[in-house]
Amino acid sequence: MGITSISARRLRRTGSAATAAVLGILAVSGTPALAATDGSADKAAGTKPSGSAASAGKGTKPSGSAASAGNPGAARSATGIPLGISRLAQGPGRDVAITIDDGPDPRWTPQVLQVLRKNHVKATFCMIGTKAQKYPELVRAVAADGHRLCNHSVDHDVTMDHKPVAFQKQQILQGKAMIEKAAPGVPVGYYRAPGGAFTPDSRAIAAASGMRPLGWSVDPKDWSRPGLPAIISAVEEKLPQQPTVLFHDGGGDRSETVAALKEYLPWLTSQGYRFTFPARTTP
Ligand SMILES: [Zn+2]
Repeated sequence: MGITSISARRLRRTGSAATAAVLGILAVSGTPALAATDGSADKAAGTKPSGSAASAGKGTKPSGSAASAGNPGAARSATGIPLGISRLAQGPGRDVAITIDDGPDPRWTPQVLQVLRKNHVKATFCMIGTKAQKYPELVRAVAADGHRLCNHSVDHDVTMDHKPVAFQKQQILQGKAMIEKAAPGVPVGYYRAPGGAFTPDSRAIAAASGMRPLGWSVDPKDWSRPGLPAIISAVEEKLPQQPTVLFHDGGGDRSETVAALKEYLPWLTSQGYRFTFPARTTP
């Protein structure tokens, strides 16, 4: 079993800073989350429930006629990849998708890989292009273990949604190329905007290049180091159907993330969850 909900309740009663941390981490789909303060983590912007993809950007009109169809969540690129943001794990029932962002990192990625291996879990790694370029052996190690690769842009500019489309395009396509160069032949089937800052244009660019825009539905805020009980209580108490859970293996000290995964993954297994990947081709 994981950390008990008793410890979570105790935390809430204290009225301490820990309370804010616990409450802050209970951000789920459609709930505005605390803004990232260190630039290393994803904010919840642009992660509205699927079906509202056309409104998930920030004011700009969707590009292309497909995105303005009656059901924007179902709009697809010519590649067949939906333009809507994926937040569900693929699978028929009790399935969960674990996603790991902001690496690869020479200290933390191997530790995360070890925990995943021990628990027979396949995850999706959203990698930053410059880091993939710097540590190509880690990109290959992730792929060799059967995990999927996701493009997290060239250098994680969380204000990308306020930048020109040409800049967004360069960040998305070059980021993909950097990961592909590190691990030739391995598909990069997802794109997660830094900080979740998608725009209709960035989603269209990603989908046209074969990458499904990828969001999340459970955010334990592991990047902010809220403490192990807070991370665990967030992911245990707020599990929607077929959740996509957000963790980080880069951007700072990720020891809490590693510790949380060691508790969380066996708990999910005990609850009957199967580990799978984020839905890629269904809205
Ligand atoms: Zn990130």
